[in-house]
Amino acid sequence: MIPRKLHAISLPRLVSAVSCCLLAFSVNQALGATWPERVGTAEVRPGEVTRGRLPLIEYADGSDVEAPVIVIAGKKHGPVVWLMSCGHGDEFGGALALQRVAKALDPATMTGLVILIPVANPPAFQAMRRVNPSPDDLMDFGGAFPGEPRFATERIAATYTTLWKDHADFVVDLHTGGDRFVQYPFVIFTVTGTVPVERMESLARMFGVPTLWRDRDKVFESDISITLPAIGIPAFLLEVGGSGVMERQQDARQAEFALSFLRGIDIVPGEPLQLERITVFERYRIITPSRGGFFYPLVRPGDPVSEGTPIARIVDVYGDEVEILRSPVSGAIVIGIQEFPVVTTGSWVAELGILVPE
Ligand SMILES: [Zn+2]
Repeated sequence: MIPRKLHAISLPRLVSAVSCCLLAFSVNQALGATWPERVGTAEVRPGEVTRGRLPLIEYADGSDVEAPVIVIAGKKHGPVVWLMSCGHGDEFGGALALQRVAKALDPATMTGLVILIPVANPPAFQAMRRVNPSPDDLMDFGGAFPGEPRFATERIAATYTTLWKDHADFVVDLHTGGDRFVQYPFVIFTVTGTVPVERMESLARMFGVPTLWRDRDKVFESDISITLPAIGIPAFLLEVGGSGVMERQQDARQAEFALSFLRGIDIVPGEPLQLERITVFERYRIITPSRGGFFYPLVRPGDPVSEGTPIARIVDVYGDEVEILRSPVSGAIVIGIQEFPVVTTGSWVAELGILVPE
């Protein structure tokens, strides 16, 4: 799920935000990342797959909090790509997708280094929550970058940022709708960093995802989609699926998109997925009810909506319909909707992407 910008409400002491065409240039121009000798305890050995753990923080009982790491080092030297998931701890489908990516990659035929972090935010994942539930934290992972030596999530973010500064040519952050929400597949990228717009656009299309969120407004200013392109590293959020049921995770689809990107940047042999039509949006709306009760969605992910299109019904505890949620905008599609039976006033029940006219 996309970062929550209003996270600061629950943390008043925090001042900062909390929470075309394919161009004919080489996608790997100006790549400069060096290969690390190891990532945590996982050694980087060309032609091999290694596993290990990356130390992040420490709990009160002295136990280490570590992220699992899978390193797949191509026989031939090339760019360094990081793929991570579960930055939001309840977005389990991303970890399932990275399991599939790991099993699909063959270091003997690869040119470059792929580093997988299936559980990027272990305190949130252990708690089966979106964020680290420590009362001193509660920070959205997407609001913690580039990180600093302060709260736990910010320290974890800083650990990754330090590694990426020396050892990343690309970073891909896999998200889902979490355990109560499902996303229509889309890729978020910013065009406000130091990476040329054409390059970001071209790279975003390598995923073969039908919908792109081209962010011109720096919506998530403390997310990797902003902080990494600002220092010259292309970074993308890959949002696919979600909900609390294993079959609905769409992890196979998310893995296909990630593998398409790896083919597109020439780390893996083969061609990226080609789509006849890609839809682009630059603005979005979050839909919330004014009433509480039971939630009946009337649209599905990917559905087009116009101003006034019914999105969901809210039925109160007595069984009476008390609210119809309608689209406030035209020319939009549903990019995410809640899959959970109840809502309160202000629940995050749907997201609309407002399309760029073709
Ligand atoms: Zn997320």
